[in-house]
Amino acid sequence: MKYNERKMPDENGFFGEYGGQIIPPELASIMNEIKDAYLEISQTDAFKNELNDLYKHYVGRPSPIFFAKRLTAKQGGAKIFLKREDLNHTGAHKINHCLGEALLAKHMGKTKVLAETGAGQHGVALATACALVDIKCEIHMGEIDIEKEHPNVTKMKILGCDIVSVSRGTKTLKDAVDSAFEEYVKDPVNYLYAIGSVVGPHPFPMMVRDFQTIVGTEARQQFLDAQGKLPDVITACIGGGSNAIGLFTAFLDDDSVRIVGVEPAGKGLDTEEHAATMTKGKKGGLHGYKCYNLEDDDGNPLPVYSIASGLDYPGVGPQHCLLKDLGRVEYTSVDDDACVDAFMTLSRTEGIIPALESAHAVAYAMQEAKNMSADESILVNLSGRGDKDADFIADKLNL
Ligand SMILES: *Cc1c(COP(=O)(O)O)cnc(C)c1O
Repeated sequence: MKYNERKMPDENGFFGEYGGQIIPPELASIMNEIKDAYLEISQTDAFKNELNDLYKHYVGRPSPIFFAKRLTAKQGGAKIFLKREDLNHTGAHKINHCLGEALLAKHMGKTKVLAETGAGQHGVALATACALVDIKCEIHMGEIDIEKEHPNVTKMKILGCDIVSVSRGTKTLKDAVDSAFEEYVKDPVNYLYAIGSVVGPHPFPMMVRDFQTIVGTEARQQFLDAQGKLPDVITACIGGGSNAIGLFTAFLDDDSVRIVGVEPAGKGLDTEEHAATMTKGKKGGLHGYKCYNLEDDDGNPLPVYSIASGLDYPGVGPQHCLLKDLGRVEYTSVDDDACVDAFMTLSRTEGIIPALESAHAVAYAMQEAKNMSADESILVNLSGRGDKDADFIADKLNL
């Protein structure tokens, strides 16, 4: 079966039974306009050249692949390699799709880009892209998150974006989504809602994926050039699933490559404090699309938890759901303790402080390497750097 020949998604935005548009018809017609504009604009040389030029000279692409020699020696077994998305401008993979979305908004003649943010990572990446392409940016953020994530709030202010403090309901991400969405539907002709992962209604899971596939396209070629063969296992952490699908896409047709997505098991899969959507979720609608999600018996999203706030999401991208059902990608989970251990171990063996999100994938690689032989290799997508998590860890471990 050739995955990259299969239309993912189909014309209606479905990845198998997942995805689609579970939204009112007026909104669906707006989403379809975005889709048509995207399909047209993204194929023009002007757009492609502009985006590739920014990837190279602004983001600093291609990001290198690094052989983690000391980590490998410590674990024993397969060689562990890191795709260094943490070295991108702004320190994570999110800039790849935020630049794409901001450029698209500009080319479509939109006047404002809107989004919600939880921990502020998506907000900062989007505010950065909007400052660069000169388009107004408005970020909705819960009052509690604004207090908690002070450095990111300050950065967004410096970058010139308007921050809307959301004081209703939980005063966190969930209500920020509603607030940003209400603003968006006031003038969807002139505004673009920039979703922060491969989630939401069609065309977002497709668009955000397309902007992220640069990660895997680069990685596959870099690995072949340096090692003369493909890695045996590739792995990435899964929140909504954008950095993972970005790495995975180029490898889907390489039958010899095992592909593993790593979800947060939080305080344990047998507790209620995790966000292991694939492992424990059921099929249903969420935020305008169908996916596996963690919901209560009435179909309301459960309050999920992860030590890494970027993985703290009750749903997951629809393409991942299909790849799970097809058996092409394995989905597993790693708990908070293993994540913190990987965070410290990578920092002290390689001098690389990873984002807590990325540390989930590192933890999986550390476990799996031991089951593999020394002539095999694992490639980990190091989705971001851990500066944002340093104080939290230092407190937690009394450093
Ligand atoms: C936001 C974030 C994630 C989670 O998002 P995905 O869409 O699942 O990739 C992972 N790593 C980092 C560093 C992030 O900032």
